[in-house]
Amino acid sequence: MTEYCPVCEALTEIVTPEALAMVSGVSERSIFRLIEAGEVHFTDGPTVYVCVNSLKEFKRRSNRRRILEEIKL
Ligand SMILES: [Zn+2]
Repeated sequence: MTEYCPVCEALTEIVTPEALAMVSGVSERSIFRLIEAGEVHFTDGPTVYVCVNSLKEFKRRSNRRRILEEIKL
């Protein structure tokens, strides 16, 4: 679904960590690790939604570091 991300200051796609794990090929555990590290944007609330844009940005930043499994986004 599309939502305004205050960090991106733009409309972006936000999905649950579970859905993001499926589309990105990153394990859910890694996604939660990124959330905890503040590497990806997320909404606070009863359900956590992650900003897809922020994972793409993270992928660009971390291309050489390869600290995660391959991100397929
Ligand atoms: Zn964002």
